[in-house]
Amino acid sequence: MGIRRLAPAELLAHSHRCLACGADVFDDGYFCNACQGSVTYNNGKTCKRCGVALRGEEDFCGNCTFDKLWFDRAYSVFEYDGAVRKAILDIKFNGCGTNALYLAHYLADYVQSKDISFDTVTFVPMSKQALKKRRYNQARLLAESFCDILNKYDLLTEAIVKVKDTVPQEKLTRSDRKVNLTGSFAKHPDADVRGKRVLLIDDIKTTGATVNECAKVLKKAGAIYVCALTVASRREQFSYEVR
Ligand SMILES: [Zn+2]
Ligand SMILES: [Zn+2]
Repeated sequence: MGIRRLAPAELLAHSHRCLACGADVFDDGYFCNACQGSVTYNNGKTCKRCGVALRGEEDFCGNCTFDKLWFDRAYSVFEYDGAVRKAILDIKFNGCGTNALYLAHYLADYVQSKDISFDTVTFVPMSKQALKKRRYNQARLLAESFCDILNKYDLLTEAIVKVKDTVPQEKLTRSDRKVNLTGSFAKHPDADVRGKRVLLIDDIKTTGATVNECAKVLKKAGAIYVCALTVASRREQFSYEVR
């Protein structure tokens, strides 16, 4: 998105490393040409509520048709695959927190290109235990960098707290994810989101259970609109569950 080719004189000043493989990149994107081939923008037909890529003719995905959702909209810049997946996994498991600072540029470009409106920005928190282990919250790094880039929004650093340490969502089935997260987020005692439209940032959205739980906290605290924005999301994986 918006990748501008640079004139030769600018190349040296702008060269940086590919977020997925570390090769030099000489344009103002953050993936090299080879890795760019595995980057899929989530810009085809998407669910009008949760933003997952859709294959069929419907306006909403199977999950949004049935679930009660607390967020009003959710958007993801990329599909969770290839080089983007690698860049995100490196943040989580290989200490590459700086990847989040660069990926935030894609979030900022996306919000501007889609003209998404909101009053304030926050992020999905981590539990104290998880934060101690990783030493940073990648969602917070994304949100901080996003606010720095756009330079017109306040970052609410204390909006939601994760009060319960949970099993990583990746290891669970869709229905277990909801149970796992129930009651795990709470409003920060100092948070005031009454009457505000909140942009909630995270790295990836899989089933949407995490952003939904955070949106619930924000809505119950008086937010009038919650829009979730993630770097990547998985394609729709609708499973017919017994309800
Ligand atoms: Zn690369
Ligand atoms: Zn949906």
